[in-house]
Amino acid sequence: MKRYFKITCKACNVDMWEVTGAVKHKIGTENILISNAPFFFCETCGDVAYRKGLGITDILVKAYREGYNVVIFDEEDLAFLNNPKSGRSETEGDEKA
Ligand SMILES: [Zn+2]
Repeated sequence: MKRYFKITCKACNVDMWEVTGAVKHKIGTENILISNAPFFFCETCGDVAYRKGLGITDILVKAYREGYNVVIFDEEDLAFLNNPKSGRSETEGDEKA
């Protein structure tokens, strides 16, 4: 498995290498920081992009709705998105045994 990915910046047509770090996003009126996230960064224009399938958008939406300003990204813990920390979603019906 390759460790590092790269894509091409659509604006600059230069390589964007994947790095890991903190990225700040503005969602509505809130700034939400995703820490420890793998992202592509263009050194020319400063653009940031993500690998597909990371669920960054879902994470941001969830963080915004729940009022978090900092999210620590854990690629091995993406399942948390489907498992509210209460263990039970308010909108769920009966659980199947
Ligand atoms: Zn660029």
